[in-house]
Amino acid sequence: MVKAVVGANWGDEGKGKITDMLAENADIVIRFQGGANAGHTIINEYGRFALHTLPSGVFYSHTTSIIGNGVALDIPKLFKEINEVTSQNVPTPKILVSDRCQIVMPYHVLFDAYEEERLGGKSFGSTKSGIAPFYSDKYAKIGFQVSELFDEDVLREKVERVCALKNVLLEHLYHKDPIDPAELLNTLHEYRDMVAPYVCDVSLFLDKAIKEGKTILLEGQLGTLKDPDHGIYPMVTSSSTLAAYGAIGAGIPPYEIKQIVTVCKAYSSAVGAGAFVSEIFGDEAQELRVRGGDKGEFGATTGRPRRMGWFDCVASKYGCRMQGTTDVAFTVLDVLGYLDEIPVCVGYELDGEVTTDFPVTAKLEKCKPVLKTLPGWKCDIRGIKKYEDLPENCRGYIEFIEKEIGYPITMVSNGPSREDIIYRESPLSK
Ligand code: GDP
Repeated sequence: MVKAVVGANWGDEGKGKITDMLAENADIVIRFQGGANAGHTIINEYGRFALHTLPSGVFYSHTTSIIGNGVALDIPKLFKEINEVTSQNVPTPKILVSDRCQIVMPYHVLFDAYEEERLGGKSFGSTKSGIAPFYSDKYAKIGFQVSELFDEDVLREKVERVCALKNVLLEHLYHKDPIDPAELLNTLHEYRDMVAPYVCDVSLFLDKAIKEGKTILLEGQLGTLKDPDHGIYPMVTSSSTLAAYGAIGAGIPPYEIKQIVTVCKAYSSAVGAGAFVSEIFGDEAQELRVRGGDKGEFGATTGRPRRMGWFDCVASKYGCRMQGTTDVAFTVLDVLGYLDEIPVCVGYELDGEVTTDFPVTAKLEKCKPVLKTLPGWKCDIRGIKKYEDLPENCRGYIEFIEKEIGYPITMVSNGPSREDIIYRESPLSK
């Protein structure tokens, strides 16, 4: 049985917590896209962790954690993370890395920073982890697969060829020092020795696991609105954030993905530039930012303050639809307990008309939010275990949003820990 855990919005919805929670009953957790540019925050009996590359299953000794072929693998960062986890007394995790996974090269990180510098005020707000240059090279067919590290002749020739190309850009576009091919080759030898014990034919491994009836979790990074095709292009990430891509980025048949848990946060937050219709500013935003998540809404990787907004039914309905949602996990609801009234964005006004269908980017820039105000519940809901025990206005908020987005909210997260979860029968479940 394969399940996907993905985001409906701009990322930071709390996928890490939901994956960590579902991983208790999973044999395998696999990352299928993205790189070390975003982070998941996980709080459990070992402490508080910000994972960037490792799947959220690493804390259980019964799970195998896999880096799938769709991931942008930064080898030194992976090892730094493994060390961080094991130094906090987590048992050494079982990790596999796909032999078809491609490697984030040191120059990808440099190019990311140089390009943002060149663009100045028009930059994308990249985390400068090398992700965009990495995926550009992958599709330009000059990326390095893990398997290529083990073929010295191929590697040497390719390093020479790629350096010649990169050095033209470094010297003439960015006016920076060129790359020394011999030095790069040495770095790649180090990478090879680091990754060697973990390399695996992952699709074959998963084929066997599926046949044996194992439970496999596909862990997504970011959310629908950051998808390069279906998101707010060009303010998107460079790999698909959709559950459908899980089949490709892990190497499994698409029809094996039986459950798609789409994580939706009870309010909105976003990082980087781009249209954000329900965005709020000033003191109102700052209060939500500081109270948000488990330690405020600041980037797990960058520490940057996140942009804040009210829950956006239009974006979330679309976000759930593009994921192919079977279940919505509605998270961080406890944070809203301080509000007397809670505005929710129920439509977009575009050229004098109201729509509930998420438009393309050029139109999105012109949309104004249509807000509806719901009553708050004014209390702390952490610790509540049963849906019926939630305050009436809180249930009202959940049920209103469920109706607007049209997908069943079957899990409600009312705190950052694994135990802070309320399962619920939804009238919309099939
Ligand atoms: P991810 O990238 O989707 O995994 O999300 P992040 O980890 O960046 O952001 C989610 C933040 O919310 C983290 O700090 C979590 O610890 C926290 N979190 C997750 N679920 C809940 C919840 O139900 N309540 C509260 N208060 N915090 C939560």
